[in-house]
Amino acid sequence: MTLSASDVADLAKLDLRLMRAEDLKGRDPGFDPGNFDAGIAVCPKSTADVVAIVACCAAKGISIVPHGGRTGLAGGAESSPGQLVVMMDKMNVIREIDAASCLAVVDAGVTLSQLEEEVGKHGLTVGIDLAARGSCTIGGMVATNAGGSEAFRNGVMRQRILGLEVVMPDGSVMSDLKRVIKANEGYDIKHLFIGSEGTLGIVTGVVLKLEAATGARKTILAAAPDASSALSFFQRLHHAYGTKLLTAEIMWRDYFQNTLKALNFERRFGNLVGEVLVIFEFDNIEDEDALLEILSQSLEAEEISDALLAKNEQERIDIWAVREETFLIDKMFPGGCWFDISIPLNKLDAFVRESSARLHALDPKLGIYVMGHLGDGNLHYSIAKDTPVNHRYTEISAALYQGLSEIGGSFSAEHGIGVEKREALAKFGDPAKLALMGAIKNAIDPQNIMNPGKLMCRQSAERDLV
Ligand SMILES: Cc1cc2nc3c(=O)[nH]c(=O)nc-3n(C[C@H](O)[C@H](O)[C@H](O)COP(=O)(O)OP(=O)(O)OC[C@H]3O[C@@H](n4cnc5c(N)ncnc54)[C@H](O)[C@@H]3O)c2cc1C
Repeated sequence: MTLSASDVADLAKLDLRLMRAEDLKGRDPGFDPGNFDAGIAVCPKSTADVVAIVACCAAKGISIVPHGGRTGLAGGAESSPGQLVVMMDKMNVIREIDAASCLAVVDAGVTLSQLEEEVGKHGLTVGIDLAARGSCTIGGMVATNAGGSEAFRNGVMRQRILGLEVVMPDGSVMSDLKRVIKANEGYDIKHLFIGSEGTLGIVTGVVLKLEAATGARKTILAAAPDASSALSFFQRLHHAYGTKLLTAEIMWRDYFQNTLKALNFERRFGNLVGEVLVIFEFDNIEDEDALLEILSQSLEAEEISDALLAKNEQERIDIWAVREETFLIDKMFPGGCWFDISIPLNKLDAFVRESSARLHALDPKLGIYVMGHLGDGNLHYSIAKDTPVNHRYTEISAALYQGLSEIGGSFSAEHGIGVEKREALAKFGDPAKLALMGAIKNAIDPQNIMNPGKLMCRQSAERDLV
């Protein structure tokens, strides 16, 4: 059911650029086609605007779906008729860059690229990077606890945040814009909002820790006989370079070769042959000979079989395109199933082998395209074949997830739960933890107006809602 005429009239009175279905029609809904299904949105520019919207919605019982850059991959920004989309991308002021304290205070709608460009002028970097950098917002990254390629080095979003400002479901503001690492003041409530996917409140302001900017980058693309060897290579580089090692990424052969083909890069990188391919990037290494010496030791130890050191910036960009153009596989094999899992590093090789065997036992024709962040064991799977398989999501996910919790891994690494993984959370989540999550949701949002139906299955949320 859509919002009533009186609801729409009251929202229009707020004078915050109300957009109706006809205004939204020409706009990009983002990763999920259902993001604009509510057919109505408002665009706040300040915390006071967000307070006015939430207070109005709370009074009328209208549920809210916050939107950042709409790059989320778990369906957390999907909306439906009767809901109001709150677009945060116009609230995009960088409030302050405190270079001496290595921190930035920003509005939630600032994009990652926008912030990176600005802090770069002060010799600093955000310390977290994703391929969606041009569109994803800091607020969305807080709400999904985003990870990315530098997480093994600088942590995920949770470790980057010093303070938060959040508009609560009753329209009050929790202002906890701390600028210090040490602040033991009881329960650290900001962590509830990190990764809450808009279900507890709207993030309006963020204090982020920054890192010293990196210099010229050196990038290696190497082939390894298997994931265990690639890990030994990673450990060798990590010991040698410490924090100068910026990224450690991995692609399995089927992903690599198909993506090379789609990019028409077969001649460029197709001579690198191994079960896995790895990308390592270093900050400002002046002694290239020392790096070449480590590469030759790794070749001798058979950790890698071949390696290529990017000879210029264009080659570096092209190597990254192979890793970051992840959706080319989906274009080649539409109707696949996507997964985002974390595996303890010492179990990575065995888990990928065993899960592939289980998936092929299910259907020998399934293509299993795997790549991800070697440094922290976060792998992205695309499972597809020449005909759609997404109607088989339940059996495919069961085969993939088998044994993952038992080895200490996660079925939801960095993209969040959204709507995609609610059932997996209900199935694999610890019952006591799920009960606490329901109780927290109920305590903070008793009307259930903040992004209802996301994160928790209706049943598990309702079970704990009085
Ligand atoms: C090409 C590509 C590569 C990606 N790579 C990575 C990666 O390496 N690592 C990674 O972690 N993710 C990755 N992602 C996923 C995505 O970019 C992240 O989840 C990102 O943090 C989402 O930010 P957003 O602003 O687009 O949020 P949206 O998609 O707009 O929203 C995501 C969720 O956050 C909520 N939300 C948004 N803004 C707010 C707010 N201000 N307050 C409260 N809730 C809010 C929404 O309701 C929704 O539940 C990738 C996506 C793409 C398309």
